[in-house]
Amino acid sequence: MKFNWEGTCESCGCTVLLSAYGDGPWQDTSCPACHCPVGLMDPLSVSVTTERLLLRSKAEVNGGDYSLAIVIGAIAVESFLTRLFLKLKGMTHYATTFNLPSPVQEEDWEKEYPRSGGFTGPADFVSKNITGMPFDDFVRKNNLAMAIMARFPAAQVSAKQYFQDELFKLRNRIVHWGYVNSTEVEALRCHDLAVSIVSILREMDKIKYGA
Ligand SMILES: [Zn+2]
Repeated sequence: MKFNWEGTCESCGCTVLLSAYGDGPWQDTSCPACHCPVGLMDPLSVSVTTERLLLRSKAEVNGGDYSLAIVIGAIAVESFLTRLFLKLKGMTHYATTFNLPSPVQEEDWEKEYPRSGGFTGPADFVSKNITGMPFDDFVRKNNLAMAIMARFPAAQVSAKQYFQDELFKLRNRIVHWGYVNSTEVEALRCHDLAVSIVSILREMDKIKYGA
């Protein structure tokens, strides 16, 4: 998958477009106006792929591809959930063996990860493993998560169920039923929800590992 990033030239303020493919590096380029070199580093993240998928989801909203934006937003969340789980397994493994996990080892760990349950199952699974409590309990006890959820008053009963209904149900409607008529309003909202969920998951990582 291709990822684009619109940056600003530090020398002249001109807009510069950078691109990357998959999880490869951002291609260095030069400013079209002043020819200064422009490069981009990925943010430190459990999942660089997630950060890029969120960019791509927004780009699809802007470009008018609303159903695709929703699907990509949901994949961004799922990617972060699995990487956070694999980070936990990897850290535990490293603490006892002083070896980094091999791809074969990670594949083995993936079997422990719940394949069903939409968002609610995996969210609880990862939250319990990382924070020791279910997703909703973490959200209620964490200040940053509380601040994020304050923007979604309807989520008061259960944050995980809210995300399931408002993002993953719309994703399922597209992926499982072939619904391709999502609107801009739905896509913008789903992007916002995906960013919110990932922000809560980043907070779990920060508390556990001080990242
Ligand atoms: Zn420039």
